[in-house]
Amino acid sequence: MPRPIQATIHTEALRHNLMRVRQSAPDARVWAVVKANAYGHGLARVFEGLRGADGFALLNLDEAATLRGLGWRGPILLLEGVFEQRDLELCSRLDLWHTVHCNAQIDMLATHKTHVPHRIFLKLNSGMNRLGFAPAQFRAAWARLNVLPQVEEISLLTHFSDADGDVNGASGIAQQLAVFERITQDLPGERSLSNSAAILRHMGGNKASLSSDWIRPGVVLYGASPDHPEHSAADWGLQPAMSLRSRIVATQVLAVGDTVGYGSTFRAPAPMRIGVVACGYADGYMRSSPGTTERGTPVLVNGVRTRSVGRVSMDLMTVDLSPVPDADIGCEVTLWGQSSQGALLPIDEVAAAGGTIGYELMCALARRVPVVE
Ligand SMILES: *Cc1c(COP(=O)(O)O)cnc(C)c1O
Repeated sequence: MPRPIQATIHTEALRHNLMRVRQSAPDARVWAVVKANAYGHGLARVFEGLRGADGFALLNLDEAATLRGLGWRGPILLLEGVFEQRDLELCSRLDLWHTVHCNAQIDMLATHKTHVPHRIFLKLNSGMNRLGFAPAQFRAAWARLNVLPQVEEISLLTHFSDADGDVNGASGIAQQLAVFERITQDLPGERSLSNSAAILRHMGGNKASLSSDWIRPGVVLYGASPDHPEHSAADWGLQPAMSLRSRIVATQVLAVGDTVGYGSTFRAPAPMRIGVVACGYADGYMRSSPGTTERGTPVLVNGVRTRSVGRVSMDLMTVDLSPVPDADIGCEVTLWGQSSQGALLPIDEVAAAGGTIGYELMCALARRVPVVE
């Protein structure tokens, strides 16, 4: 028998979450963001659940080629555009739409030989200060692209840094949205603004302050909340698209004062039983989980919520069995997602206990973990 850890991808949940996104933005077209191997879920594995999107957005040419290989004929957008001249040949061949965020990318396009003119998403740096033309340079970039025979259509894109919260008492998108509108007002072309947080918080319903021809949901499709802990995934009506489950492979009985694991960071305050779980940081679980504190990281044993104790090691972690006295070797342990009986453990809560976010945990799922659908 293989080591009992396994990740399960829930195709129905992906479909549900996509539908949930469409409810918030019924008039927008959806780029399903599948970068980073579909946020750790596996591009090929999420394809079925997300093929109802209008397009797929990602970073790598090999991921784009994989999608074409799966039979996807619709739009594919390279969110960071091309990295070198040669990439443009693949864009032409695979019919990829691409972001243009700097002059070097325009230079490459200007000398690219192609019979198929490209669709471009020109990126404005509206305040994130990562990628994109500064407001003062944006219109010149647009004018440069507009006369290139290599370009068929220019759409306009920007990315929010604070859509998940408020900034100085105003909505986190207000300032960047104002910059975007000021700079692009009279330019033709479709707009793409919203990530998951902007879609859920600022589109749809009576609070709508944002419209966007193309929206770019990522994490929401995988069933995590973009603004945890203000809202949980359940608050937003999302379902987890991944469950990480393993089993107890050993148990130990501790006397008062006994310690657990490397560094002896957990000391039993009373006699207790602990379970040893086949899951460690080499599977993608956080080593930083605070097994030393009172609360530890939440886990489910046989669907019952308990906590980790002691340090997470490479292949194993240890959990408190006090709330589940019947638990023994072979019992199911849910690290995040859904137990096989349907009990929920939101990835956002696990991540928060370890000082990170659901995004990072799902992306970190290690290659050695077998994945099933
Ligand atoms: C990753 C990414 C997204 C999706 O972000 P989420 O917060 O996961 O919805 C959208 N747009 C761009 C440019 C991105 O890089």
